[in-house]
Amino acid sequence: MTESTPAETTPAETRTTGTTPAGTTPAGTTAPATDPTATEPAARVRRFALGDVEIIRLVEWHRPFAPAAELVPEAAPEAWTDHAESLVPDHYEPVNKWAVLALQYWVLRSEGRTILVDTGAGNGRERPGMPPFHQCEGDFLDLLAAAGLAPDDVDLVVNTHLHVDHVGWNTRAADDGTWVPTFPHARYLLPAADDHHYGPENAYGGGAAEVDRLIYQDSVAPIHRAGLAQRWDGHHRLDGALTLESAPGHTPGSSVLRLASGTDRAVFAGDLLHSPVQIPHPHHNSGACLAPAQAAATRHRVLQQAADNRELLIPAHFGGSGVVEVRRSGATFTATEW
Ligand SMILES: [Zn+2]
Repeated sequence: MTESTPAETTPAETRTTGTTPAGTTPAGTTAPATDPTATEPAARVRRFALGDVEIIRLVEWHRPFAPAAELVPEAAPEAWTDHAESLVPDHYEPVNKWAVLALQYWVLRSEGRTILVDTGAGNGRERPGMPPFHQCEGDFLDLLAAAGLAPDDVDLVVNTHLHVDHVGWNTRAADDGTWVPTFPHARYLLPAADDHHYGPENAYGGGAAEVDRLIYQDSVAPIHRAGLAQRWDGHHRLDGALTLESAPGHTPGSSVLRLASGTDRAVFAGDLLHSPVQIPHPHHNSGACLAPAQAAATRHRVLQQAADNRELLIPAHFGGSGVVEVRRSGATFTATEW
């Protein structure tokens, strides 16, 4: 599918670099609370350009998220400790052996449009069994404002998949408590296979977990009711630089967003991988991958393409700069921070 693109041109790119907050240390082995962020919003905004596309990174938090053995159950402890020099502190906290992740937003300004890739966890949600995402009070709207943007400015929302931490700010609570689209002027691109899997036609994820129904009903269903949802599958071109591509396995509709502008290439890889520890071991799935064999094959394919085509790899949750360069020697992948 191809969308029409507006005649408006991309504004001149600027490259101003801020900093990301340091991770906080977990207390014991319980999940860290959803702490207020460590630094002012403006310090968690970073801008750079790839070709004619301006990238704005908004970091809500960056901290120990879960025991490493739970995040990537197939990875041996040595997979983390053998690469400690590159994983600590931005990706691994070695005292408690926790994986360090970021909850962040990627805003792309391309051909005159503002595109938000994934929408975090949202605020004020009931998320039973998911402590990091239950009743969050994050400052996403402040981050957006610090980047000089308002919700009305967003033209397109891309949900790489429909998991809890990728759809939250699709909506916000109206004064009467109902959930309404946060971005009333945007079209929301939903992977069709995830919309089917997590929607009512499949009993909200097959009825596997009550929280899946809650997530869909407060963060996805209101988008359909408002007439702002557009399902897509396979390949979906956004404009001359950006193309969505199905990359199933983590979820049935998981997808990546490819950028090609001038000589620059990048792939926004969603949750195909959660940590750089998976790059030398692309068959190691996260504990949240629904179809393990398919997820591993898709991860390997995307890594190979990133290495062979010199695409910067930009997964949803990487800390540090959030961006890595992947290299391949035969079947062995390595990564360096960009
Ligand atoms: Zn995620």
